[in-house]
Amino acid sequence: MARVRVGINGFGTIGKRVAEAIMLQNDMELVGVVKTKPDYAAYYAVSRGIPLYTIKESIREFEENGISVKGTIEDLLGEVDVVVDATPGGVGEKYKPLYEKHGVKAIFQGGEEARVADVSFSTLCNYEEALGKNYVRVVSCNTTALLRSLCALSSIAKIASVRATIIRRAADPKEIKRGPVNAIVPNPAKVPSHHALDVKTVLRDLDIVTMAAVVPTTLMHVHIIYVRLGSKVTREDVVSVFENTPRIVLAKASAGLKSTAEVVEYFRDLGRKRYDIPELVVWLESITVNGDEVMWMQAVHQESIVVPENIDAIRAVTKLASRDETIRVTDESLGLIRGVIPKL
Ligand code: NAD
Repeated sequence: MARVRVGINGFGTIGKRVAEAIMLQNDMELVGVVKTKPDYAAYYAVSRGIPLYTIKESIREFEENGISVKGTIEDLLGEVDVVVDATPGGVGEKYKPLYEKHGVKAIFQGGEEARVADVSFSTLCNYEEALGKNYVRVVSCNTTALLRSLCALSSIAKIASVRATIIRRAADPKEIKRGPVNAIVPNPAKVPSHHALDVKTVLRDLDIVTMAAVVPTTLMHVHIIYVRLGSKVTREDVVSVFENTPRIVLAKASAGLKSTAEVVEYFRDLGRKRYDIPELVVWLESITVNGDEVMWMQAVHQESIVVPENIDAIRAVTKLASRDETIRVTDESLGLIRGVIPKL
């Protein structure tokens, strides 16, 4: 079968990770990526053998820097079946008319408004809704994380309500202009934060309220979650469902994985490129059950958690695979693990 031809617009934190993940898939071909500036990331793309495209106005600047581009974004769109838009939040929407003009399906990211797409997407929650759609939005890192654990939990009992606190990282490691450096900032100082609304773009009828604050760290976000279920469960039920759900790992604080710093160090030890952790990390000892109440804490590697969902979204819009099949193939190709960590 012919491989799905994919292009990427925006080669930053998310774009470069999705590009390299596509290169690992047997049923997809990375045709090229669009860069607007000939910066270090453009040199990196060339060094990886990834064809570069740009906007018309930037061709000369690339040439002056000795970087040859294969063409313009329009040329790339003429060659692909699907484009993954990984431009900064709000920019993707401006590109949509161009994608429409070229009849190319598009996967947008969580920085876009939900209205940009036919469906907001989470593999575990609503893969089937995205089958054959033209425009799909992979929800943000925090929303992807919340949806993974909530949809896993909903397989053992109906969720009556969710109350969650989001402790957000201040910036990605490469970002030099964001903060705070020395403050904790309510984000925003009102309730709910936008995360609850974003979860509801996928689970429309869910009773969920979130509050958020930004703290001076770049490693990961942390969520503190309180769920009321429609029926009683045991702690063993909850541990078992998280343990057996793909893309979730259970970190043992008692083995030293007590913080985001130590979780990151563990994945560095495993040799993960850029210490990426596409898995959601739930602290095993934090899982607490009291009849129909369930509480836990989880950590989210913001730079990589949405990568598997982007790969699945490409398979969904092109109807390449069922949900279970794409999870199997994506997770195997990316070397994702599940169950309790650390592992022997
Ligand atoms: P980024 O700034 O790291 O990368 C954006 C890329 O787009 C850069 O290469 C930039 O040069 C390029 N770009 C800028 N303007 C452009 C334009 N007009 N046309 C084409 N390319 C342009 O951003 P990111 O963190 O990768 O975020 C991309 C999207 O992913 C956003 O919607 C964001 O909300 C979402 N997202 C980010 C994270 C995260 O933690 N970084 C996590 C999940 C989702």
